[in-house]
Amino acid sequence: MYFDERIPLYLNLACRQVTRDRGDLKFLTGSSGTTVTCGGRENQETQVLKFGGSTIWIANNDDTDTLMMKAFLDKLGIDSLEALSSHVEDYAARLYPSRKARGETVAKANISDGTAVKVKLLAELQAEEMTSGKTVADIEIPDPKDLTTVTAVSNKTYKLSSSNAPPADGIVFVTGNYEGDKITGGDQHAEQKLLAALSKAPSTMTGAVRIIGCKSACSTCEAVLLGVRDRLKGKMIVSFQNQNVDNLRTDLSLGKKNTSTIRDLALDTYFPA
Ligand SMILES: [Zn+2]
Repeated sequence: MYFDERIPLYLNLACRQVTRDRGDLKFLTGSSGTTVTCGGRENQETQVLKFGGSTIWIANNDDTDTLMMKAFLDKLGIDSLEALSSHVEDYAARLYPSRKARGETVAKANISDGTAVKVKLLAELQAEEMTSGKTVADIEIPDPKDLTTVTAVSNKTYKLSSSNAPPADGIVFVTGNYEGDKITGGDQHAEQKLLAALSKAPSTMTGAVRIIGCKSACSTCEAVLLGVRDRLKGKMIVSFQNQNVDNLRTDLSLGKKNTSTIRDLALDTYFPA
């Protein structure tokens, strides 16, 4: 269960690192020269929707970040949930920038932009899978990844303006805008983009759907997630998981973000009662 949270955390932090390195994948390869197209600017929030054992939809508040993540996974030749999971398991530790960030404590003064919280959480989730008695400081940084023999792939995308159903298998990058209920302007959040795509899901998508993020849902997204969960009862079991992120924010005396400026998905349009 914990492992799933590592995927959005890893993608978010990798996107941030590659953006800082202007598209170079040197955090992974250990040397400059392998690059991807990169125009990301926010690196705010990455959320994924998982269905069955092989489907993962990926969205961010900022679509530019989403397209950068696609370029990144395409370049690495990763085109299945299984391959993505293995990659995160093998290489997440290359995102730990310093021993301090891998350590047991991160001072509140160092977390003003939220980055260190996510680095710390990724490290803690990794440590939980290790033999008991070890700590996050014991995690070894793996050797650089050799990309010389990797064949690039082209993962799927889904735009919310499409009238087609989104793909129900593999890695799918979701971009675009959803319609708001009370708010027509404002920012659009990743969780709600995934829900808007879910409203057009093919009939084969029934059963359990999980939305998992690298950041606690804001009050607007939480209300929408609960609303969709209720309206889909009997057809799908929609759950959302930010428990570890929530716990860590509480530990660090950071509360849930409450904002009234985030666009709120028009429930009656997307999920008529
Ligand atoms: Zn939100």
